[in-house]
Amino acid sequence: MAHFPDLSVYTYHPEEIIGFPTGTTSCRPGYERLNVGWLDAPHEFETGTVADGFADALLDIIAGRRINQMRGFHVCTLCPAQASPGRPRSLEVVHRSRTLYLGSSEIRVPSGPGTMFAAPTLIWHYVTAHGYRPPDVFVLAVHGYDPEWTSGPWVPADADRRDSRGDPLTSPDLRPLFGGEAARKATPALDLRPVPVQPGLVLDNDAVGLLRDGLGWYDMEIRWMAHLDDSGVLRLWRSWKGQQVYEARLVPGPDGATLTGLTVEQDPSRHQGTLDREPDLFERVLRSCLDHPRRFRAGHTPYGPSPVTGAPG
Ligand SMILES: [Zn+2]
Repeated sequence: MAHFPDLSVYTYHPEEIIGFPTGTTSCRPGYERLNVGWLDAPHEFETGTVADGFADALLDIIAGRRINQMRGFHVCTLCPAQASPGRPRSLEVVHRSRTLYLGSSEIRVPSGPGTMFAAPTLIWHYVTAHGYRPPDVFVLAVHGYDPEWTSGPWVPADADRRDSRGDPLTSPDLRPLFGGEAARKATPALDLRPVPVQPGLVLDNDAVGLLRDGLGWYDMEIRWMAHLDDSGVLRLWRSWKGQQVYEARLVPGPDGATLTGLTVEQDPSRHQGTLDREPDLFERVLRSCLDHPRRFRAGHTPYGPSPVTGAPG
């Protein structure tokens, strides 16, 4: 792999291509990128211990946005050459029930204003297998990582945005993603109970991607928050107080995911209604939790089109 000294200015790719479950955003970054963790034998590198939880925090970032995804992959040049003949394989790691492939993309970690750290995903392997110790400023930034940076001012307004089919999206993506403030607001249900009959819903890949990004808090007009976590658990909260009402599992298949194991809050102080009226109510709520992000993604607020695009409503 390419070797770049830690904290040197990143010049590997002039553009940034940010991967989302529902598409990509490409832009010329308006921030300076600083290299971290671009190790390559026989170049020397810093070694030492890092704080507990650092390696896991790196995996959380790697599991999130993929930057500059390649078709091929790099292998670690510090590991002894593979004795077995045949093609090299990319490194894999299972994290929160998901298999992550290392070596084919990068991560970005916001630093101070206008500065972003740029590291290869193999950095996790360098830390855990080769005792690599990244610069302290990077370790600090990883522990303070904000997964919502891709929906903020880091991405310029003129970025080229495409959906999962590669078709251009011309309006700004206004989705309030689940994370940060919304995640802090969300509280678990008190008494989740299974419904007597499961709804048997199948969601397509676009819907799964929307739920993975999640629906965060917008305002009183949007009554629910929703999020599908990395282990395949879908949770829905009332947005006003952040109280959880629904929980289900999404089992992935070739063309989407099947919903199973729907449970509903039955504590009377939290949620009114009887279990036999579910899952109809749940289906209606879930549909709204998909319709809202689709409209936000197309540049519409609940009050009409974004003033930026002026697109007809
Ligand atoms: Zn290695």
